[in-house]
Amino acid sequence: MARRPILAANWKMQKTTGEAEAFAKDFVPRVAGAEADVALAPPATALHVLGRALAGSAVALAAQNVHPEPKGAFTGEISPDMLVDVGCRYAIVGHSERRTLFGETDEFVAAKAAALFERDILPIVCVGESLAQREAGETLSFVGGQIAASLARIPEARAAEVIVAYEPIWAIGTGKTATPAMAQEVHAAIRERLGQLFGAAGEAIRIQYGGSVKPDNVAELMAQPDIDGALVGGASLDPESFAAIVRFNG
Ligand code: PEP
Repeated sequence: MARRPILAANWKMQKTTGEAEAFAKDFVPRVAGAEADVALAPPATALHVLGRALAGSAVALAAQNVHPEPKGAFTGEISPDMLVDVGCRYAIVGHSERRTLFGETDEFVAAKAAALFERDILPIVCVGESLAQREAGETLSFVGGQIAASLARIPEARAAEVIVAYEPIWAIGTGKTATPAMAQEVHAAIRERLGQLFGAAGEAIRIQYGGSVKPDNVAELMAQPDIDGALVGGASLDPESFAAIVRFNG
């Protein structure tokens, strides 16, 4: 099945409002006419200005996180409605940094994904194994379990719209990329699991690879049958570099 590629930038805790605006000005013309969905996830402080800078362009706004509750006493958190307010199309949930540094569980990630769908924001749900799990041969069972638990609450009728990001933790920000064959093996297993969970919709769900994706390795990753996009950290901070990734097919 032909799935439209989706390339997303995760800036993490980087870029001021001015830097985000300057990025948009440089980047948007570089990717005009790209045959892919493209999204930028700035820090929360830059969502509003970046949303304005991207308005009318084909580049979408994404959040790096969300809280599942609609409002209330959750100091420091941001609700799905607030992301609607600034124009987000997507939100990353369950990034490994949130899971490992902030103790987020599959159940919490599942609640976030469900809350996003209620407000019509598409979740980018991250999964991925640690180096110890890979070395112990547990990658496929662990990632399969994360998929089932993290997607447990999404509306079945909209399952085809969720985006999954497979990000082996040992490849994030380390310069170590899974080989295309290693990544494809896990993506195929994820696809099989998605089929068991959601039937035919599993074929339509886009699965991004993340972990040290760069302009010079994106094409061979994207050539794999079950890799439908990339979630990019470090190499997305520079507009020329991220534009080259978006234009992976020339
Ligand atoms: C990420 O954090 O989602 C990521 C993939 O980072 P990097 O590209 O820097 O490995």
